[in-house]
Amino acid sequence: MNHPPLTVRALRCRIVQAPMKRPLGTSVARMAFAPFLLLDLQTEEGVTGRAHAFCYMELSAPAMRRVLETAAELIEGRAVDPAAIGQVCRNRFMLLGTQGIVGMALSALDVACWDAVAQAAGQPLARYLGGTVTAVPAYNSNGLGLAHPDTLGEEAEALRREGFDAVKVRLGRADPKEDLRAVRAVRATMPDTSPLMADYNQALSAEDALQRGAALDGEGLYWIEEPLAHDDFRGSAALAAAIETPVQIGENFTGPDVLATAIDCSASDYVMPDLMRIGGVSGWLRASAFAAAAGVPMSSHLYPEVSVHLLAATPTAHWLEYMDWAEPFLTAGVTISDGRAQVPDRPGTGVDWDEDAVDRFALP
Ligand SMILES: [Mg+2]
Repeated sequence: MNHPPLTVRALRCRIVQAPMKRPLGTSVARMAFAPFLLLDLQTEEGVTGRAHAFCYMELSAPAMRRVLETAAELIEGRAVDPAAIGQVCRNRFMLLGTQGIVGMALSALDVACWDAVAQAAGQPLARYLGGTVTAVPAYNSNGLGLAHPDTLGEEAEALRREGFDAVKVRLGRADPKEDLRAVRAVRATMPDTSPLMADYNQALSAEDALQRGAALDGEGLYWIEEPLAHDDFRGSAALAAAIETPVQIGENFTGPDVLATAIDCSASDYVMPDLMRIGGVSGWLRASAFAAAAGVPMSSHLYPEVSVHLLAATPTAHWLEYMDWAEPFLTAGVTISDGRAQVPDRPGTGVDWDEDAVDRFALP
């Protein structure tokens, strides 16, 4: 692909940690703050490409910044070509491995490159990738953590009042009856036609998943997400074949080849790669081609501000996961109406920092 000519001048990395509007308890941990790495790719031509990467834990942010400092030494003075820059960086980090923290940092760099070239072309990223400036179906993935089931109905109603038809509830309590109560408490507040997703965050053994999955068939769940360990494709395939509720996986696919393997194994009914684990925009494009060839519906994980562009250019686009975690430090969040997220009609991704907020939430 020929991109507008831009030259890398420097990378700037900052770390912020903003409080979450709705702290989230999952089967893994309870989170009240969301640490992000903010990347500015500055060019000699004056265009700045931006990316924000969720760090999961505060400890990973300085390590990701170190990776990008090393990457900067390799790419300063080079053309902003996502493919070539990705190749140079992966070669440098090959012995350490290009997954995990390294992979997330290099994905952020890839996203910043694509943002820069789309800006230079004067096009929204969606259109630059061959898609259209459109609105994509979105569910409100905030809240609905592992709280007491009695509190969930009210929260689900509040989340749907933010402009959504669909929401997602977290599961994986020790007692499956409590999970069932949670699902019913939320379901009772929604029309039958409104999608309700459920996420186990890898909580179950293969045996438990078969029992719990079968028990949830008939409860009106749109998908159950990551019921098993993320890389147990064999177990996940057996579960997907055994139960009626669709199985969703993918936020832990570390690159498009892993997605292709999962699809080859029929590990799930749906896939939902994460922008920073799948390899940025470049990785997403390869992944979406695999999903399209197999006819598998593809949703996004986190980063609604960027994912909205990608889904608008994805042949088997399914659902956008809407999260508000980055909104405290962005100049604009995703616009939602009638359960759809709108691709912003601005050059690039449209992601930009609220500098006062970045100062306020900065970590050293
Ligand atoms: Mg999930």
